[in-house]
Amino acid sequence: MRHKCFISSKTEDFNYKKYILENMDIDLIDKSLNDAIDSDDEEYIMQVIRRDYLSDSTVTIFLIGSKSSDALGWEEQKYIKRELQGSLYHGQGNTQSGILGIVLPQMNDSVYRGSYSCIRCGGSHNHVNVRDTTISEFSYNYYIPNGDKCAWSEDDRFCVLVTWEEFVKAPEDYIHRAFNKREHLLLKKQKFILDITINKLKLWLFQKFYLMLQFLSQKAFQKLFLGNFSNQLKEETKVQSYLIVQKEMRT
Ligand SMILES: [Zn+2]
Repeated sequence: MRHKCFISSKTEDFNYKKYILENMDIDLIDKSLNDAIDSDDEEYIMQVIRRDYLSDSTVTIFLIGSKSSDALGWEEQKYIKRELQGSLYHGQGNTQSGILGIVLPQMNDSVYRGSYSCIRCGGSHNHVNVRDTTISEFSYNYYIPNGDKCAWSEDDRFCVLVTWEEFVKAPEDYIHRAFNKREHLLLKKQKFILDITINKLKLWLFQKFYLMLQFLSQKAFQKLFLGNFSNQLKEETKVQSYLIVQKEMRT
């Protein structure tokens, strides 16, 4: 199955985008956000981006070049930041897209920094530097906070990362991998909602069961103790009325 893709890139990396457009058999949305949307309202701008640029696509390809980092500031990165934010948005009329980061050749050494031995687990982890080389929308979803673990497994990440050299060998494979992350995340969300519903149901049943138990034990208590007590009371009343009758008869 082919997935509709949107390419997010800097003008400096246009040749790579052009190469994808002209040489790869990928279902692409041939638009990019280089024309300014005439508004100062950020929420409105994001709405337009989601509606006009991203509503059809399910995977966003982010080209990581030498000018793609947050260090260059908002004004420089506002287009790619908005494109990634819009891609990550999940709501009415726009589902979240998978994100595929492609490390362009000039960035290989800055991103892939070899391996290091971990003082916590004693194992070896790869040092992949996306924090200084990309925007936070990408790096956060590559290194999603994972609690107390010392390393990230493929399953802990939302963004998929690949070098340009590997990507050109099998573009559809990597696009599909990014798409699957999206499915995986949506399933996770659905499972989370299902778990909450089941827990609510359990709580409701438990409350009903508890109330029923309380009711039954009250009834049993009444029957055992109050029942005897009222019988005793009845007997006493009978005796007393008998005595009164006797007294009346005597007088
Ligand atoms: Zn470790």
